[in-house]
Order: sequence, then structure tokens, then C-alpha cells
Amino acid sequence: MTKLAIAIDLHRCLGCNTCSLACKMQNNIPDGMLWNRVLTENCDIFDGAEGTYPNLSRTYRPVACQHCTNAACKRVCPTGATYRDEMGRIEIDYDKCIGCRMCMAACPFNARTFNWNEPVRSTGFSYGDARVPERHKGVMEKCTLCKERTDEGEEPMCVHCCPGDARIFGDLDDPDSRISQLRRSSTAHVLLEEKGTQPQVFYFN
Ligand code: SF4
Ligand code: SF4
Ligand code: SF4
Repeated sequence: MTKLAIAIDLHRCLGCNTCSLACKMQNNIPDGMLWNRVLTENCDIFDGAEGTYPNLSRTYRPVACQHCTNAACKRVCPTGATYRDEMGRIEIDYDKCIGCRMCMAACPFNARTFNWNEPVRSTGFSYGDARVPERHKGVMEKCTLCKERTDEGEEPMCVHCCPGDARIFGDLDDPDSRISQLRRSSTAHVLLEEKGTQPQVFYFN
């Protein structure tokens, strides 16, 4: 088996949002939607800080679909539109999606985004990788781990473009891969472990 995943080095993340924009461009994501967001730890405002002045700190935490091994979204999807593929990625079959949004409610990471209307792009035209299928009104979407790229042996665009070298892509089922070695490091951790979804995306510092 293959279990593709991303590891994120919180110590190296600059909070530059390049990953969010690279993802948006690669995947032709409409206005008002993001598949990858860069959050600020323990703070509910954009680029905020934690602590009390003058003892302030800031930790950026990029969050997208965690491609969970025990994916809550997959368990509740009534049509089989959400599925795990042979590379260990959680994907959406847009033709099977009926827009019920059960998956959106079930995901503890707020990783899914819904096309309430026909997609609008401020460019006035579609952009990005021509291999990526368009989504339409009434269909759910989210990070695909850049399926069209990773199927061809390329790394996801967020990993490719990260200027901080903070994102590592690889196969968790290969015990000798760099990502597997990082998963065994003492600071490796996942988000919301208590929810039991067993994220494949993990963080370390
Ligand atoms: S592109 Fe890299 S350094 Fe910039 S916010 Fe994303 S993970 Fe952090
Ligand atoms: S992060 Fe959410 S959408 Fe992604 S696999 Fe896990 S439960 Fe599903
Ligand atoms: S919105 Fe689509 S992918 Fe989500 S649970 Fe409903 S049918 Fe499945």
C-alpha cells in the first residue's frame, strides 16, 4: 500500500501564505474559497499573537484536509462520493456528490468548502493546471493532495512552492522515507487527536 502525506515543520513556517496561494492557483479554486489556510496558533485573528505584551509569540499552523485514516467525512457520505484511493488520499468523486454537506459537518478540521453558487473567479477565466477538473454549484471540494501532480510523481504545489522548506511530502507506508522518519520524531503530533480521525498530515518542530 501507499499512504501519501504531508509533514509541516512549525519551526520553519514563515506564515507567508504561499502554500495557500499556490494551492489556489494549481487547483483553480474560485473566489472566496481556500483549500489550505494558514492559521495562527491559539489566536482567532489573522496574524495575531499569543501571550501578554511584552511576552508575545506567534506560531503559524497551515491547515488543509488531513487525509485521515479514519476519515469522518468518508463515514457519513451517503453516496460514496468521498472515498479513499489507492494512494491513501481521501478524494471526492464530483459526479457522485449530491451536495448534502454531511461531510462538511462531520469534518473536525473545517477542511471542506462547498460551492453554494456557480464558481466566480476575479480573473474572469479558469486558471491553474488543466488536468484539474472544474467543480460546479452544489458540489463539495477540498485538498486532493494535488492528485493530478502526485499521480505523476510530482510533489503537491504547496510543497513545491514553500519558501521556508517547511513542508515535506512522502509515503508513510515506506518506513525508510524521510516523512516516516519525521513521524517517529519526538515532536511529531497531529491536530485534534481526540477526535479519532487519525490524520495522516502531521506537524513537528
Ligand atoms: S508556504 Fe511554507 S512557509 Fe509559507 S505559510 Fe505555507 S508552510 Fe509556511
Ligand atoms: S480532514 Fe476532514 S475532510 Fe479531510 S479526511 Fe479528515 S475528516 Fe475528511
Ligand atoms: S456533500 Fe457530497 S461528498 Fe459530502 S457527504 Fe454529501 S454526497 Fe458525500
